[in-house]
Amino acid sequence: MIPGRPPEPWPFGCTGCGRAYPDDLLPYRCPVCGGVYDYAAPWVTPSAFPLATERRGLQRYRSTFPLSPSAGFISLGEGGTPLLPVRVGERVLHFKCDHLNPTGSYKDRGTAVLVSALAAAGVTEAVEDSSGNAGASFAAYAARAGVRARVFVPAAASGPKRAQIEACGAELVAIDGPRSAAATAVREAADAGAVYASHAYLPHGLSGNATLAYELVEQLGQAPGAVVAPVGHGGLLVGIHRGFEALRRAGLIGSLPRMIGVQAQACAPVWAAYTSGSTGLSLVQEGETRAEGIRVRFPLRGDAVLAAVESTHGTMVVVSEDELLRGCDLLARTGLNVEPTSAVVWPAVLHVLNDIPDPVVAILTGSGFKSPPQPPAA
Ligand SMILES: [Zn+2]
Repeated sequence: MIPGRPPEPWPFGCTGCGRAYPDDLLPYRCPVCGGVYDYAAPWVTPSAFPLATERRGLQRYRSTFPLSPSAGFISLGEGGTPLLPVRVGERVLHFKCDHLNPTGSYKDRGTAVLVSALAAAGVTEAVEDSSGNAGASFAAYAARAGVRARVFVPAAASGPKRAQIEACGAELVAIDGPRSAAATAVREAADAGAVYASHAYLPHGLSGNATLAYELVEQLGQAPGAVVAPVGHGGLLVGIHRGFEALRRAGLIGSLPRMIGVQAQACAPVWAAYTSGSTGLSLVQEGETRAEGIRVRFPLRGDAVLAAVESTHGTMVVVSEDELLRGCDLLARTGLNVEPTSAVVWPAVLHVLNDIPDPVVAILTGSGFKSPPQPPAA
């Protein structure tokens, strides 16, 4: 048994063949069928709510994470982000400002849980791949935990994100070509024996993303009517949805919010599957988009996103490049400086606002500091 491992088995199983996650290795996918791991059972619910604790941020929800009580929690002060109301005509939108997390994106919620699990398992070296934000988050938390990090990014990822990764002491590996080329390169490293601390494949971070649901209920005093979130691999929307499910199971909220997923028109596989099934999916391109954080051609949690959207009577929305750049501009004019990937929620909300109940929450995922809306001048 690895020192610091949870006393019980990991609560994960393969979505392909059902095999349990092994006790003594950290595979990123099932070594038998190649399937993706997910939670095999509903996770622990916050025991009392709202939580009365002197801890701040994510540490308040520590008991809901797949960590043994003796494991250290690797924190940079993530979570506990503001919820800001903005009036739109007769309605009020609530923006959850997760771009204000320590490394400038919501990824810190999942990374804190994942890196805590890796450190508890005795991992000293790991690889990760990212369009930028997850890599920057991983580099920072790995530095905090004393884990050596190697991060594969598309060569076209924003300069500030790459600089942030290197500044934390991680080794940056820039890969030419689309986002999927970096993913292929890191899998080759994993197949050669590296621990692949993938925020997309490994399920640990989903319970970190679920803390958004707990915070939203605490901040609103009720469950939202609808939650609008960008969808790349889908871990954000799925994590939030399961957080609400956990609260409902515990009788802490009455009903689940409608889950609204947003993709960029240039690369919208989950939207295509939602609107046209497998026929639509086969036509999807990995086109150029300013929403680099959700440019994912093969989303690992696409099925789980569709299940969350359909079971809550939500929907998938697609937005054009013009719409997302205008969204960026309008958000900035309300004082919210976010990256184009985050700004997709603004036009998406306007598309569906007449059909969704209050309170409406949109998740702002990444800071504008490291990915400005217009490409910098050459
Ligand atoms: Zn399997």
